[in-house]
Amino acid sequence: MRVYNSVVEKDPAQKVFHQAVFEVLENIAPAVEKFPIYKEHKILERIVEPERIVQFRVPWKDRDGEIQLNRGFRIQYNSAIGPYKGGFRFHPTVVLGLLKFLGFEQTFKNSLTGLPMGGGKGGSDFDPKGKTDSEVESFCTSFMMEMYRHIGQFVDVPAGDIGVGAREIGYMYGAFRKITNVHGTGVLTGKGPRYGGSLIRPQATGYGNVYFCEEMLKTKGEELKGKVVAVSGSGNVAQYAVEKSLQLGAKVITMSDSNGCIYVPDGLTKEHWDWIMELKNVRRGRIKEFAERFNVEYTKGGKPWVYKCDVALPCATQNELNGEEAQTLVDNGVLAVGEGANMPTTLEGIIIFVENKILFSPGKASNAGGVSTSGLEMAQNSQRYFWSAEEVDQKLHQIMVNIHSTAYETAKLFGQPGNYVLGANIAGFLKIADAMVAQGHLA
Ligand code: NDP
Repeated sequence: MRVYNSVVEKDPAQKVFHQAVFEVLENIAPAVEKFPIYKEHKILERIVEPERIVQFRVPWKDRDGEIQLNRGFRIQYNSAIGPYKGGFRFHPTVVLGLLKFLGFEQTFKNSLTGLPMGGGKGGSDFDPKGKTDSEVESFCTSFMMEMYRHIGQFVDVPAGDIGVGAREIGYMYGAFRKITNVHGTGVLTGKGPRYGGSLIRPQATGYGNVYFCEEMLKTKGEELKGKVVAVSGSGNVAQYAVEKSLQLGAKVITMSDSNGCIYVPDGLTKEHWDWIMELKNVRRGRIKEFAERFNVEYTKGGKPWVYKCDVALPCATQNELNGEEAQTLVDNGVLAVGEGANMPTTLEGIIIFVENKILFSPGKASNAGGVSTSGLEMAQNSQRYFWSAEEVDQKLHQIMVNIHSTAYETAKLFGQPGNYVLGANIAGFLKIADAMVAQGHLA
């Protein structure tokens, strides 16, 4: 509590950061008690503080030739176990506190993957929505004009996140190459497969979340096949969570965006999914258009959590599933909740799931498939080689199985079997903390 209070006192406005720190500190407390060496080395005080923060201005030109201005950030949170690694988010809500929460979470997530990656996060309050390709290119180029100094394959390897997909990564990579005259493929992940990207990276977070859920269900003798699944969001993570759920024989009844939610009682089909992929990735339209085209229910401002389902996959954004909604899911008999987004469930919601013994996986465990496959992209770039889609998918699957068993076994070891929040936080923490102790007080 002392460390948490000091975090709040130092930056009182950074509410989502406080929330992320609270969740971690509360859950790792048994490990800190058990191993006094972490207190001696002031690991908690050090781990909540980013190693470095870079903030800069990003001027760019809009379609009328007018200069626009945004803010750019990079948080280099913790490099004890590897180069900083974590995505860029381009969204109007981006402020320092939001990125600190994401960078902090990322540090534990990356540790859980078992790969040598530290934690970082960055982005801008730039909103790519409604912008032309030229505007996005102008912004991305200007953003990279500053960012290139701070990143590198052995230093910091950013990737995508909300608002940063293949298009944005492509423009940023192009700018990096022009500025540095280096074809440094290992400097960004999520690249297109024709210039150093890994196959399966776009699918990885959504697929990984579903693989993790399948593992949780197995512990109760259940499987995804035949289950009713509610998904939120319709971006990268949601799209591939839906695809994998369909492949495994589940019935997916919802998707959403920041305007509203569609409800498809008979379940989405492959044809529907193809249509949504085109809507979201090519036409960049709204999910409402799906309801109009296929004549299904659409609720403006609605969320998926009001519908009866066996499995809930929140894949949109932070704090999109509150305590009341968690209670509705529990009352409706939900079996498993797999966080695809980062911290989509509020602290109240988490307590409700854990107390009701719902199979609940925190995003730092179940959405780690994306960064894991970014790690696999880095490995392929270092080898100057590439793996087939099957090979990458198999490795991704194995990593998710490993993360599941690590979180599961750790929770058991600390006397709370089935508590994945506790298991994931402690397992992620121990590896970083040990690395920090081993590297001395400056690490
Ligand atoms: P995208 O930008 O591709 O999609 C985000 C989706 O969430 C969109 O459907 C968007 O709707 C919706 N959304 C965004 N903000 C809100 C909001 N305030 N209320 C309701 N819906 C909202 O992002 P990703 O799919 O890449 O990321 C989704 C989540 O997963 C984020 O939390 C991200 O940090 C996390 N994540 C992503 C990884 C990745 O590999 N991409 C890896 C690990 C975690 P709209 O279009 O209307 O804004």
